[in-house]
Amino acid sequence: MTANKNKWSRRRFLKASGTAGLGALMAPVNRLAAAAETPTRVPTRPFGKTGVDVSILSLGGMFNIASNQVMMKKALDWGVTYWDTADCYQRGSEKGIGKYFKKYPQDRRKVFLVSKSDARDPDGMTDLLDRSLKRMNTDHVDLYFVHAVYGIDELDDSTRAWAAKAKAAGKIRFFGFSTHSNMEKCLLEGAKLGWIDGIMMTYNFRLMHTVGMKRAVDACVKAGIGLTAMKTQGGGPVRTDTDAEFEMAGRFLEKGFTDAQAKLMAVWQNPDIASICSQMPNMTILMANVAAALNRTDLSARDTDLLQRYARETHSDYCAGCTGICESAVGKGVPIGDVMRYLMYCRDYGDRDYAVAQFNTIPENIRRRMAGLDYSPAEKRCPRKMAIGRLMREAVEDFS
Ligand code: SF4
Repeated sequence: MTANKNKWSRRRFLKASGTAGLGALMAPVNRLAAAAETPTRVPTRPFGKTGVDVSILSLGGMFNIASNQVMMKKALDWGVTYWDTADCYQRGSEKGIGKYFKKYPQDRRKVFLVSKSDARDPDGMTDLLDRSLKRMNTDHVDLYFVHAVYGIDELDDSTRAWAAKAKAAGKIRFFGFSTHSNMEKCLLEGAKLGWIDGIMMTYNFRLMHTVGMKRAVDACVKAGIGLTAMKTQGGGPVRTDTDAEFEMAGRFLEKGFTDAQAKLMAVWQNPDIASICSQMPNMTILMANVAAALNRTDLSARDTDLLQRYARETHSDYCAGCTGICESAVGKGVPIGDVMRYLMYCRDYGDRDYAVAQFNTIPENIRRRMAGLDYSPAEKRCPRKMAIGRLMREAVEDFS
């Protein structure tokens, strides 16, 4: 399908969605697309060597799906056919998907369904997978991830054997892992394994241009691994008063899209990324992201430069997930990278409840001593010179 066939006029999109009042939030789906007569859907891309094409926008399932069933219906209508969840997502994410498939069983075959396991041992993974299948009213998931790996040594021969067995049993079609820590290393080493079908990793306008990340993505592409980007907004405890950000917001709005949409478009400009998994907890965000996916006007060189300038100005506010560096400097089991992510959920996503719930999964004895630790060795090593001590103390204060 050509890009033009995928484009859908903004007017038509708004009319079909019945929400013309949201026009101000939407990308003008390309001034080129005068009036495609037939509404088209979010485009697809091949997912590695799986032979499956997935929608370039994936519905992140970390919201109250049970109470937002209309989101699922509309997502499918607009071609967002890649749905992502995990056994540990709260607010009944998997159960909400199960509720949907119970009502619309015919839609199961339209969806590329992904779930994830917090367990690492084969028995634990089997239990969690079986529970996920039951909750979601389905007999298989299309892709199953080991969730949030910090290093590739969390996968071994027993993982490989488990994946082969689960595939043979028809419970999963493809297998891989997700990571928001030490991503470059995880990708490079994952590419060497030879039995990984897909990886979901933190990847955004801040990280995608580094030599290390480019090399890691190339290795995965050569290995035929499908890649899904997440955390594409590049947020966190990032200050919001930089000159570049003001300039960026003005310029992008004049061109007809928001900076949030521009950050998605920046990632889609890399054809090696099959899909972006985005948390879309309400219709406004879903529509804005769908509009950005339908738009696909390439960012100009000046737009990209502006994003890069903004990234440089906020370099020391963004945690890049290289937890192997700071956590080993502090020790004591403090999950610095995780806490940075919880700050992002709270400050960037505005989801304080989820941030607090995640923070409370840290063992109590670690939480208790976190505020009083000396983080200066970690701050010295941090390539972004983040104010780790201050941020850890703010997290303890905000979330305790
Ligand atoms: S705090 Fe610094 S060293 Fe630690 S993960 Fe974040 S960017 Fe890397």
